[in-house]
Amino acid sequence: MAWDFSTEPEFQEQLDWVADFCQHEVEPLDLVFPGAAYSRDPKAKALADPLKQQVKDRGLWALFLDRDLGGPGFGQLKLALLNEILGRYRSAPVVFGTAAPDTGNMEMLAAYGSAEQKAKWLYPLMNQEIFSAYSMTEPQGGSDPNMFKTSAVRDGDQWVITGEKWFTSAGARADIIFVMCTNGMFVVPRETPGVEIMGYPPLHNHIRYNEVRVPLDNLLGPEDGAKVLAQRRLGGGRIHHAMRTVAQVKLAFDMMCERALSRESHGKVIGEHQMVAEAIADSYAEINMLRLLVLWTAWTIDNSSTQAARTQIAACKYTMAKVLREVSYRALHIMGSLGTTNLTPLQAMWASAPTMAIADGVDEVHKVTVARNVLKSYEPHPGLWPTEYIPAKRDEARKKYARLIESDPDLAAWADAAVRATARG
Ligand SMILES: Cc1cc2nc3c(=O)[nH]c(=O)nc-3n(C[C@H](O)[C@H](O)[C@H](O)COP(=O)(O)OP(=O)(O)OC[C@H]3O[C@@H](n4cnc5c(N)ncnc54)[C@H](O)[C@@H]3O)c2cc1C
Repeated sequence: MAWDFSTEPEFQEQLDWVADFCQHEVEPLDLVFPGAAYSRDPKAKALADPLKQQVKDRGLWALFLDRDLGGPGFGQLKLALLNEILGRYRSAPVVFGTAAPDTGNMEMLAAYGSAEQKAKWLYPLMNQEIFSAYSMTEPQGGSDPNMFKTSAVRDGDQWVITGEKWFTSAGARADIIFVMCTNGMFVVPRETPGVEIMGYPPLHNHIRYNEVRVPLDNLLGPEDGAKVLAQRRLGGGRIHHAMRTVAQVKLAFDMMCERALSRESHGKVIGEHQMVAEAIADSYAEINMLRLLVLWTAWTIDNSSTQAARTQIAACKYTMAKVLREVSYRALHIMGSLGTTNLTPLQAMWASAPTMAIADGVDEVHKVTVARNVLKSYEPHPGLWPTEYIPAKRDEARKKYARLIESDPDLAAWADAAVRATARG
């Protein structure tokens, strides 16, 4: 019997270690030195680097990369179980070498980079010696590649890139930026003359590329291959976000349940009030539906490919935003006035739900993808009636019994009466 919801004991040991390490090492660092894990400041690095070394020693660094791409090769299912822990802690992804946007960029480099490109960018990215950003979205066209204008023109031994990008996360602090052009994916060192980082927004940057010159070798993958590379990058990124969202909603749920047992109001523990009980029951079911969808998708990727799991990944994308919105709102609400402050993680979690519905492509686009792909396995019904129109099906089924019914009038009468009784019911 292949359907199995258990975790093998050796891997459970790793998960237990990760949970303990995150709780006792990563969270305290986050609380006392917020941002230290991301910082280039030598004092902050001296605090964070030993934790990263422990992760490396444990063979858990760069978890998302397959073995042939330089990672431990856990596969997506195990990664999902790990991310269900890491996603609870702000710095855990960076302490485990799995932080976006570097992860997606590394996946592209690992899959499409030449040996020289990997040596120059992939391994330094894996070791967090450098950081990267991904410049795809354009101000006039969102993330619709058919609307993009940024392009590269070949001039001797260089590419000259001209265009404008919007919402490049961490662009201002990246060492290299992966720039999606209409005719290819290019790696642009941020310090290259012509890269103009605008003042706003501060975290997700608006960048102008003013005739930026890069060597021919900075084209990643084939010329005109940008869409394929982008799909590879975004497909992986979306499912990883969904895995970490499972962690977030479980955290909200834990907080909701603890509160439900800890407060009394109007003569009862609040968990005994029916509407609070409903919030807990709905959240329990929704979290588990999301979790199983994500695990099933991860399993599908492991057993086929990211491409084959596209419909499921798209379903994870908008479902996670919805479950995050609903569960974080309920948890915040049950926390009362405290929930409206930034003294617990709930306010930030709830505020992140609309972001989840937009980042990596708006929900509508993913819903259309799911509907379009699902409809490919259906046909319109041939005649006037839907396939499941009962009178037509019954007429068809009677043909199977035609001889019997003709030969036995009592049985025919019994069948007619039984059908009339069903119709009345
Ligand atoms: C936190 C965050 C981080 C991001 N990081 C990056 C990054 O690192 N690099 C990068 O390149 N981009 C990044 N983005 C940008 C992201 O890819 C875009 O915001 C997203 O694809 C939507 O584009 P837009 O913001 O222009 O919205 P629009 O495309 O203008 O969409 C606005 C609204 O229009 C409607 N709409 C749009 N298209 C459709 C459709 N096809 N069907 C139905 N309705 C539709 C929806 O209601 C949608 O919400 C990030 C975004 C966020 C929020």
